Amino acid sequence: MPVVIAGNEAQQKKYLGRLVEEPIVAAYCVTEPGAGSDVNGVKTKAVKKGDEWILNGQKMWITNGGVANWYFVLARTNPDPKCPASKAFTGFIVERDTPGLTPGRKVRLPFLRFTGVCQARWFFRKVFHMLSVLLLLQVAAGAVGLAQRCLDEATKYALERKAFGVPIAAHQAVAFMLADMAIGIEASRLTWMKAAAEVDLGRRNTLYASVAKALAADVANKCATDAVQVFGGNGFNSDYPVEKLMRDAKIYQIYEGTAQIQRLIVSRAIIEKAKNS
Ligand SMILES: Cc1cc2nc3c(=O)[nH]c(=O)nc-3n(C[C@H](O)[C@H](O)[C@H](O)COP(=O)(O)OP(=O)(O)OC[C@H]3O[C@@H](n4cnc5c(N)ncnc54)[C@H](O)[C@@H]3O)c2cc1C
Repeated sequence: MPVVIAGNEAQQKKYLGRLVEEPIVAAYCVTEPGAGSDVNGVKTKAVKKGDEWILNGQKMWITNGGVANWYFVLARTNPDPKCPASKAFTGFIVERDTPGLTPGRKVRLPFLRFTGVCQARWFFRKVFHMLSVLLLLQVAAGAVGLAQRCLDEATKYALERKAFGVPIAAHQAVAFMLADMAIGIEASRLTWMKAAAEVDLGRRNTLYASVAKALAADVANKCATDAVQVFGGNGFNSDYPVEKLMRDAKIYQIYEGTAQIQRLIVSRAIIEKAKNS
């Protein structure tokens, strides 16, 4: 996504072209052991030496970090601690075979350590807003997809499974769980679509993107928990689909801005609006 939005033509041709020519992946490297929600705390530094940039630091929790062919890496290029976050960082494209780059040990998901020389750069700050908004909407849409699958699986099971002589869907307490799932899913789907429409209209949509991401993540978790409930004991059985959906759902409240960080953004936006009205 950063290369789609902010890469120049040569970078797009080279790096995106590579991704469609071969079955390979890239990775997005922002988080570090000491900096997740607080991106301003990123310590990885990039220093220019002649025509090259030397990056030093450590990244963590990088999805596909161990197998990626190239990396988008966020690094601090202005060492002044007083420099605002919006101006202190630069995005780099780093090749996997860059001398000094060392993938770290795999902990549930791969993560990455590196010290190395980069081959390309562009200014990240100009696109930060657009990038974060698009990533949020992608994540919100993914969460809605997971919630929808929970509803589909739970409905199917509720029509097949019988208790007290009737399909469990005939018990109102079960049917209402399905109804609540549907209500949450419809609301969260419309919310990310509204946020996407704001982008199409060229309007700043920070508020809606954060509302969409927070709502969709919470709905996905509620739907996954309720789907396990509808399956009863089988909800815990990995022969059935919903225990995996419940495990998968949790990440939506954590990555691309935690549930709390989204609320921070939403609260700031509404307070700012009220102050200016
Ligand atoms: C499976 C997985 C995949 C990931 N993939 C990637 C990836 O590909 N690339 C990448 O760069 N990163 C990735 N991440 C990292 C992810 O983005 C971070 O974990 C996330 O941003 C949270 O940061 P943290 O873990 O440091 O938690 P922290 O920032 O330490 O937060 C800990 C807790 O404190 C709360 N908190 C922090 N600050 C505040 C505040 N100001 N107000 C209220 N509450 C606050 C948080 O909401 C959270 O509950 C991944 C993480 C996971 C688990």
